[in-house]
Amino acid sequence: METKKLILTGDRPTGNLHLGHYVGVLRSRVEQQYTHNQYILVADVQALTDYYETPEMVVENSLEVVKDYLAVGIDPQISTILIQSQIPAIAELTIYYMNLVSVARLERNPTVKSEIMQKGLEKTLPVGFLNYPVSQAADITAFGGELVSGGEDQIPMIEQTNEIVRKFNRIYKTDCLKEASIYLSKIPRLVGIDGKSKASKSQNNAIFLSDSPEVIKEKVFTMFTDPDHIKVGDPGRVEGNVVFTYLDAFHDDRDEISSLAAKYRKGGLGDTVLKSLLNDVLQKLLQPIREKRYLLTRKQILDVCYDGTLRARRVSDIVLANVRSAMGIDFFDKTKIN
Ligand code: ATP
Ligand code: MG
Repeated sequence: METKKLILTGDRPTGNLHLGHYVGVLRSRVEQQYTHNQYILVADVQALTDYYETPEMVVENSLEVVKDYLAVGIDPQISTILIQSQIPAIAELTIYYMNLVSVARLERNPTVKSEIMQKGLEKTLPVGFLNYPVSQAADITAFGGELVSGGEDQIPMIEQTNEIVRKFNRIYKTDCLKEASIYLSKIPRLVGIDGKSKASKSQNNAIFLSDSPEVIKEKVFTMFTDPDHIKVGDPGRVEGNVVFTYLDAFHDDRDEISSLAAKYRKGGLGDTVLKSLLNDVLQKLLQPIREKRYLLTRKQILDVCYDGTLRARRVSDIVLANVRSAMGIDFFDKTKIN
């Protein structure tokens, strides 16, 4: 029997999930769960690296994120959904890995660099935040992740992880840790409705899976189009036009998109027509998801998290035991201490 590859993926519970997640990662997770052994990590510890003052919000968001998973069709019997803070092995692995990475290397990580700037953390950067790529190396290796699926911001994290893996194996003369590869989403970066940066929970520039029909419509109609397309008759730009980017990502009728794009370029097609079409497409996509979300109870969500976390712990405890043994820091006979 062919064994399925272990794929790790996850989200920071810093808010509800949005359309960037939907096209970027959620849709592929629903497919991947049948072809891979999928672990989905709710990265609450990572969320605390910048939301440490409001842990109650991180906990609430964790449950909301899991609600999003179930609403889009992730099956908790097939995928293992786990809560990062409830896996002690991750914290311990992070501590060991921290010795293998220099501060300068973390400061050069492009994803961390741009997040520090966006969040204005230049002068007040918490050690925990700078260190989150190390903790992500622990997330990946704790379950023997062979593939990590995610958007393009995850590429530097995997490079960092693999450097740690190689250094660990070299220093401790072992092969107990395995390198991981990226499994990049088909749409690795959906732009925000402002057209500036990627759609992101913390930038408040995203359409959320839980948004009401009214809010969806409002957001669609505030979308950035082409600032030079003032009158309907003016020729318009399609490239960099957020409405077209979203139609490309969410509308199945490719022929309709091409003919609209041609008309828009020529002039004679108003933004309102395009936005109404996009609004219809998104309302149709999000309505069933919102309805499923609404039916899920807190108890159901907590049960899913509990079951998945227990399953994951069994795996991470074995990895941790191997790591300790490779480092030679297994002091006591396991049968006595556990
Ligand atoms: P935050 O602003 O708190 O960092 P986020 O919106 O960036 O939140 P994350 O939890 O950091 O979301 O990302 C979870 C996963 O979703 C990652 O794999 C990431 O690459 C992917 N992702 C996030 N935003 C987008 C996007 N706009 N387009 C495509 N993929 C995305
Ligand atoms: Mg992010």
